[in-house]
Amino acid sequence: MRIVLLGAPGSGKGTQSQRLVERVGIPQISTGDLLREAVARGTELGRQAKEAMDSGRLVEDSLVLGMIRERLGEPDARRGFILDGFPRNLAQAHALDRLLEALKQPLDAVVQLEVDSRELVRRIAGRRSCADCGRVFNLLTSPPSGAGAVCPKTGAPHRLMQRPDDNEATVAERLRVYDEKTRPLIDFYRARGLLQVIDAEAAVDEVTARLAQALRVPALRAPKRAAGARRGAAKRARKPAKKKAAATAKRTRASRASPKRRSTRTRRAKAPRAGAVRGARRRKSTRR
Ligand SMILES: [Zn+2]
Repeated sequence: MRIVLLGAPGSGKGTQSQRLVERVGIPQISTGDLLREAVARGTELGRQAKEAMDSGRLVEDSLVLGMIRERLGEPDARRGFILDGFPRNLAQAHALDRLLEALKQPLDAVVQLEVDSRELVRRIAGRRSCADCGRVFNLLTSPPSGAGAVCPKTGAPHRLMQRPDDNEATVAERLRVYDEKTRPLIDFYRARGLLQVIDAEAAVDEVTARLAQALRVPALRAPKRAAGARRGAAKRARKPAKKKAAATAKRTRASRASPKRRSTRTRRAKAPRAGAVRGARRRKSTRR
């Protein structure tokens, strides 16, 4: 299963990718990590990337694509991958398309985690990490509590700090860049019949359930370690698949319908489910 997850900073993309990695067993291919590794290992691509970074230039897409190509050749990527941090703009999306086509490994799905921008700002503003042990908390969604409130490093309460780029001014700028550069990818992938939009303004487990539904991977839904504690998920899992799909679609539509300012996006998001029309669109599409 070859997937691109799209989502603004604060949309929960990192958390959901992690769950895919753990539960579905496909690697997350992060272009940031690839760059760091290539530089550290001193490969030819790494050397060129370092040269660009040292002279303050952006690393060219062709270098990043070269690293992705190398990474996809490794055995663990045979079953699929989640691409993280790439593509971030249309030029990169086109280039990726060409690369994957050449490798005969086209994407299976592109999932957009949709969260209202005010909620994104709120979530990011709540992020804190402990200066001593590095654990990440969110004052709104996952504050330190109970036994977890004690820092394993110091034995005292965690010393919570905010990352410098999580302040409100920087967040607004990061969201603006996302809207300008990355949001156009939504239409790009919709036109290819690959896009699934998920309402990600819900609890983490619920978003995972919706992701499982969209990607049709039941294994993603039920974590082994917390199975007993998740009755809701179990109940959902017992429903026949078709009913479940209808229920989720209804719920997604209902929760999207309320805020007024998302009208255009909502309307577009309501276009027929990608899965249902993917075959038809693929046949019609004139890819290159
Ligand atoms: Zn700590």
